[in-house]
Amino acid sequence: MARRAAAKPDDLKARLRSLTTELMLIPGLSGYEGRVRKRLAAELHALKLATRTDRLGNLIATIPGDPEAPSVMLFAHMDQLGLVVRKIEANGLIRVERLGGVPEKALPAQAVLFMVDEGRDVPGVIANKSHHATGQDEKYRVLPYAELYIDAGFSGAEEVLAAGIDIGTPVVYYPAALPLAGDRLAGTSVDDRAACAVVVEVARGLLASHRRPTVHIVFSVLEEYNLRGAVTAAQALLPDIAIQLDLILATDTPDMAARGDVILGGGPAMSLYSFHGRGTLNGTIPHPALPVLFDETAADEGLPLQRSAHVGALTDSSYVQLVGQGVAAIDLGFPMRYSHSALEVCDIGDLAALTRLLIAGISRIDSGFSLSRDDFPQ
Ligand SMILES: [Zn+2]
Repeated sequence: MARRAAAKPDDLKARLRSLTTELMLIPGLSGYEGRVRKRLAAELHALKLATRTDRLGNLIATIPGDPEAPSVMLFAHMDQLGLVVRKIEANGLIRVERLGGVPEKALPAQAVLFMVDEGRDVPGVIANKSHHATGQDEKYRVLPYAELYIDAGFSGAEEVLAAGIDIGTPVVYYPAALPLAGDRLAGTSVDDRAACAVVVEVARGLLASHRRPTVHIVFSVLEEYNLRGAVTAAQALLPDIAIQLDLILATDTPDMAARGDVILGGGPAMSLYSFHGRGTLNGTIPHPALPVLFDETAADEGLPLQRSAHVGALTDSSYVQLVGQGVAAIDLGFPMRYSHSALEVCDIGDLAALTRLLIAGISRIDSGFSLSRDDFPQ
């Protein structure tokens, strides 16, 4: 009798490496996630899951489970940060606006891609003043983005327009994926395509298990823009529990040492506290049932689980938790270095362990799983 062999851990890592890499190479600025959505919808369809897309562009699929158990929304964002064309100079050089938390000191000398249309995208370079003409006073100055311009090879505004680039055209870092030593992978939009790949693998794992709550898979839009894309999905789905997947800042480089103990390659991590105090006043303190669930799951499964608590970043869960009568939320993720630069770095082993933690943890959510605050006196 033919019996399907259980997936070997190495198969999981190979699939995660391949899908993460593929997703990193698809441009998808906030508000322009269509190509990423198409690719992820194909992944879900291959798992025999029906998908729907809401008006904002969130891609949603539901894995039915025990109706007595609290329902779960598991989500990761499809979009990436970047730039938008603001002005086309008469000489063909192009000025841009920032979209999302683009680090200005990481911009000059970067390759970019104008998202015109599939097959018609246009590469360009963000200019960096010729070194031989750079004065002593300019050498250590970070140029504000308004002073930067993009050279795509055109010599007049008409040529730019003829190529399909106009005011409002989306621009992203030139998509790249660079395998580093061992399990390390560098490149564009590891945030949050790596988590999108994890969600696909978690869906595969949950479909193979018979014990599970109802799980709504959501690939969200507009996270890097205003963090509210996932809210409409949550309003429609009204989940009891929201599990958000994104990067967790790795703090094992010299410049980050004082911020925490999260090690790249040290396994998945959960956030116990986040807050963003600049402009967006929000963050997430997880519902107490959820750190307990994942701590116990990690211990029983022999998986590492790192902890993170810091100010300066937040995710969609901040807003999703406020939907309806309140949603029990938690941020889980993979350690990542060099966030929002064109060469972010993650570790495929962390993605695999995060996938296993989520499959095992979510499978434990049954009809007896309490979200009552009376059970958590602190
Ligand atoms: Zn992100």
